[in-house]
Amino acid sequence: MRALRRFTVRASLPEPLSSLGTLATNLRWTWHPPTQDLFASVDPRVWSEVGGDPLRLLSVVSPDRLEHLARDEQFLSHAQALADDLDRYTQGPRWFQRRQEEVQVRREHGNYELTPLPNAIAYFSMEFGVTEALPNYSGGLGVLAGDHLKAASDLGVPLIAVGLLYRSGYFRQSLSLDGWQIEHYPVLDPRALPLELLTEPSGAPILVHVAMPGDRVLRAKIWKAQVGRIPLLLLDSDVEENDEDLRGVTDRLYGGDQDHRIRQEILAGIGGVRAVRTYCDLTGHAKPEVFHTNEGHAGFLGLERIRELTTTEGLDFDQALAAVRAGTVFTTHTPVPAGIDRFPVDLVQHYFGSETLLPGVSTQRVLALGAEDNPGLFNMAHMGLRLAQRANGVSKLHGEVSRDMFRGLWPGFDTTEVPIRSVTNGVHGPTWAATEMSKLLGETEESGIGMRFEPVTDTRLWELRTELRGRLVDEVRRRVRASWLQRGASALELGWTDSVFDPDVLTVGFARRVPTYKRLTLMLRDPERLRAMLLHPERPVQLVVAGKSHPADDGGKALIQQIVRYADEAGVRHRIVFLPDYDMSMARYLYWGCDVWLNNPMRPLEACGTSGMKSALNGGLNLSIRDGWWDELYDGSNGWAIPTADGVHDPTRRDDLEATALYELLGNQVAPLFYDRGEDGTPTRWLAMVRHTLASLGPAVQASRMVREYVEALYAPAAASAESVVGEGFRGAKELADYRQRLREAWPRVRVLDSELHIDGHPTPVLGAPVTVRARVELAGLEPSEADVQVVLGKVGDGDELHDLVTAPMNYAGNGNYEVDVPLPHAGTLGYTVRILPRHDLLASPAELGKVVLAG
Ligand SMILES: *Cc1c(COP(=O)(O)O)cnc(C)c1O
Repeated sequence: MRALRRFTVRASLPEPLSSLGTLATNLRWTWHPPTQDLFASVDPRVWSEVGGDPLRLLSVVSPDRLEHLARDEQFLSHAQALADDLDRYTQGPRWFQRRQEEVQVRREHGNYELTPLPNAIAYFSMEFGVTEALPNYSGGLGVLAGDHLKAASDLGVPLIAVGLLYRSGYFRQSLSLDGWQIEHYPVLDPRALPLELLTEPSGAPILVHVAMPGDRVLRAKIWKAQVGRIPLLLLDSDVEENDEDLRGVTDRLYGGDQDHRIRQEILAGIGGVRAVRTYCDLTGHAKPEVFHTNEGHAGFLGLERIRELTTTEGLDFDQALAAVRAGTVFTTHTPVPAGIDRFPVDLVQHYFGSETLLPGVSTQRVLALGAEDNPGLFNMAHMGLRLAQRANGVSKLHGEVSRDMFRGLWPGFDTTEVPIRSVTNGVHGPTWAATEMSKLLGETEESGIGMRFEPVTDTRLWELRTELRGRLVDEVRRRVRASWLQRGASALELGWTDSVFDPDVLTVGFARRVPTYKRLTLMLRDPERLRAMLLHPERPVQLVVAGKSHPADDGGKALIQQIVRYADEAGVRHRIVFLPDYDMSMARYLYWGCDVWLNNPMRPLEACGTSGMKSALNGGLNLSIRDGWWDELYDGSNGWAIPTADGVHDPTRRDDLEATALYELLGNQVAPLFYDRGEDGTPTRWLAMVRHTLASLGPAVQASRMVREYVEALYAPAAASAESVVGEGFRGAKELADYRQRLREAWPRVRVLDSELHIDGHPTPVLGAPVTVRARVELAGLEPSEADVQVVLGKVGDGDELHDLVTAPMNYAGNGNYEVDVPLPHAGTLGYTVRILPRHDLLASPAELGKVVLAG
């Protein structure tokens, strides 16, 4: 019999056990081993059956057991101690509060060096990967967002996070007999998840309303997950009053067509802001001064804030835009132009055109914010950049790539001047490092890995690595067996799965989503060579592969099939496996147990990559193309860099070259080092690399490092900018809008009339010799204080193009004349030019407005 409908009934806990409810619903348990141990002790068998999920445990465990525990003094006092600890964790001052106090104290002494910190930051993302118990993510972007929240919580950063709750999450992956990906969409019941519904005093759900074309309304409930100190608001369109098609808006992550997707993004951005407002009114939470748009998808949030200001504060569009930009931070995550969200302009027009969605906000202005080269498309990343005064990429290399990719928005500027900085991603140590490893290394809650591992002997370190590898091997066997049963094999033929993998063999992991640029099958370039390495008599390698392909990407599924077919062969199936359904619950075993973490993207298409960081936290060594984070953190001895065939444009040849380099490294360096054992049986030189990895990467890859950087480089300055545009009835915003208006009028007539460069003495000047540059400019009615006139010196190449620029501001000498003495910055052939830039105290960078007038 099939159930008509599924619903979940939560167990009612005996009163003495009420603290378990709090401990189970605050997701801090996901990174707090003592809390996990407490739940495991409730019933170890059930705990493992429910995959370590406290809420499920409590709904499944027998009432007798609960009654028994309710009388167990020791258990009760242990639970109470943990609940008190959670209380201290969520209420007490942490890094952020201490920092706030420091700023305060300094200001009292007249020291204004440190920027005050915001009272609240709203963080928007389309996906959040906090735990497999709340499957609301597809891959790296979501897990990164989850790690951001956890680290913010540990640091006490007052974030409010916002996203959507997907009824079926992303999808669950299994395999057909011939290795083709099959997708399943199990429907989740939010009441069985660690979520709380925001309700009116009457108990009715609070609904967010968003207008849809044709006088329709999209309503959404607001669920709240509590991630340590951080509330995570998730909008859910499955509301009875919604039209049937609108109920399905939040059905799946990244599913459906463009129309489905724009509805999701409208709900996340516009509905998201409304949810934050509701939450703050309801709870008295401080109102966010800063809004962080994590990737373009959530960018409509800026439009809603413009609407708020134009309707409630009487600002015009430009004033509201200035106010909104000041407090907005935009993070771009993709260096692949095809990875950027773009909608047909008609579709955007369809939703925003009648102005019922955002009353009073001009559709033309909206469309202009998303304009790109193709007049038929609306570009969410461009809108993100135009709506944010501050923007960043997610590794140093990705910062460079982004400046180049988006340079068209700042015409006339050198790529290095494009105002997109970088904050390298990090991973949440307490979530991703095995507890045993953290203990061995002396990890602290706020700063991640400590430095206490010198006294740990090689033997101890190797024992732990071997234990973690063994745990992975058990998990691999379990999953391989389950996968074959699922593919239709009978238990009788699966005896061989008990001896898949060997706990003492060098274990290499490769797990990630499978877009083309990640090159899932590069390792199969020369199948015989790979086979020889897997089956090497003295130095075998075993390879665990996992990853989901986007359901619409048959190319990706074909790559998975290639791997699966190869791994299915009887001769190698004990040494290479493809594990279906890569998610956080599997990922953890891989990061713990793999000796080597392989990554071979097509450089520079990996924005950052974070899985290798998680492996490093457990003493795994990275073997990777120098892309994303590895480009900046590889130091020559903390892993291996696969050489890239830069400049080779033929992709086939490039893959051949890079695959060969990979085989050579793996066969000639990695494996020999792993199997080179000292007298105590441990691989001494290998362990030296492990120690070096832990020491050099341990602190650098922490999400706490990342979040502190966001606070210092982006959130605090954005809060300061926001304050200076909002105060005194939005005076700053009005001034800035007024200035931009006057710039628009004057700019076409602003010119450098003439300029000269004068070198004293020597016919051939030497490096560092002073030169005098003079210029006469026409400012077309702008005041000298409203423009910067600069000399730009640099090397010149063949096309007279300047590079390696050095700029110096020129001093106003009256009557449109400017002058400056500068030392010559380079030897060789130099050139110079003079340029005029807008200047206003409320701009975050001189390039911000994308306006520059060059001489000549
Ligand atoms: C960390 C993580 C990712 C991201 O890995 P990349 O290296 O960025 O590809 C994807 N999925 C899961 C489950 C993860 O934990």
